[in-house]
Amino acid sequence: MTTVHAYAAPSATDPLVPTTIERRDVGARDVLIKIAYAGICHSDIHTVRGEWGPQQYPLTVGHEIVGVVEEVGSEVTRHQVGDRVGVGCMVNSCGECANCAEGEEQYCLKGNVGTYGAKDRDGTITQGGYSTHVVVVENFVLSVPESIPYEAAAPLLCAGITTYSPLNHWNAGPGTKVAVVGLGGLGHMAVKIAHAMGAEVTVLSQSLSKQEDGKRFGATDYFATSDPETFEKLAMSFDLIINTVSAKIDLDAYLSLLRLNGTMVNVGAPADALPLHVFTLFNQRRSFAGSGIGGIRETQEMLDFCAEHGIAPEVEVISAEAINEAYERVLSSDVRYRFVIDTATLAQAG
Ligand code: NAP
Ligand code: ZN
Repeated sequence: MTTVHAYAAPSATDPLVPTTIERRDVGARDVLIKIAYAGICHSDIHTVRGEWGPQQYPLTVGHEIVGVVEEVGSEVTRHQVGDRVGVGCMVNSCGECANCAEGEEQYCLKGNVGTYGAKDRDGTITQGGYSTHVVVVENFVLSVPESIPYEAAAPLLCAGITTYSPLNHWNAGPGTKVAVVGLGGLGHMAVKIAHAMGAEVTVLSQSLSKQEDGKRFGATDYFATSDPETFEKLAMSFDLIINTVSAKIDLDAYLSLLRLNGTMVNVGAPADALPLHVFTLFNQRRSFAGSGIGGIRETQEMLDFCAEHGIAPEVEVISAEAINEAYERVLSSDVRYRFVIDTATLAQAG
């Protein structure tokens, strides 16, 4: 065991504080990563605040991790000391079920092991990326192409794959009209990736305040959902809607924007149930779907796709002391477009 610096939530209601956590010894198939940057995902906030259910505290969150391999176990073949690597939302799965065999480890039939707040195989509770080091089994460690700017790479491990996977699955591409609801961490990556895939992209944001950014990221159109006319103007327009909103929205209003056979995919994860009228689905034979992160193979494909297309998240690098303030800014939709913690500052804070 090694003791490393970290930031942790002491409870669901207290601010995060500097602390130390234990990392396991490097096993034969493990990789020790010196973390350079960790992104702040809205899921971190939902989790530490207990919105998705009770947690065991203190809890260190963070599942957008990028760093350098510092040590490898004796049987590791995929990564070498010095490699630039990443870790996303899961650190293990059964590896044997039908879904794992398909490369869909996020849907492991025995449940994947989340990067934080999950029971690890040794019975301990996993602790996430707001820390200086992490030990992860090599199969769940991704190779991060050198051409992706280092500080911008971390958010790809969650925001990138969570939007790439449904865009890929529902065939966003030339000739398809895609709407992205919410221009935050996930939303801005959905716009960039859908545009790079060749789709025509529209942003549906609460206001027009980020319109220039949305267009710079590749959107052709940008509408404010606070304006009721938006829903009249855009009725039956889209093949695919990616909803990234972290709060409850009026599903029927958004579903009515789908054209024949269109699909709305929810990746936003509000705690409350979202009601909808099935008649909205009957009309135009619409589908309502959900999607959770992506498998390891697809995550690597996404990283390579972003490198090839010169796509990277827009980030604001912060020091550890600014984490709590950053949480408040995420909650008030004041994020441009992902906060990334410089983990070198964790040691100073701790
Ligand atoms: P984020 O950066 O806070 O972005 C969410 C955006 O939603 C905001 O920027 C805002 O965009 C919009 N929004 C927020 N509150 C709203 C409200 N009350 N009504 C309408 N729009 C609102 O969050 P994120 O990190 O992208 O995560 C988004 C959601 O996805 C979270 O619930 C997160 O837990 C979830 N998530 C799911 C997965 C998965 O596997 N499915 C993976 C990662 C995250 P505008 O300012 O443009 O309106
Ligand atoms: Zn996330």
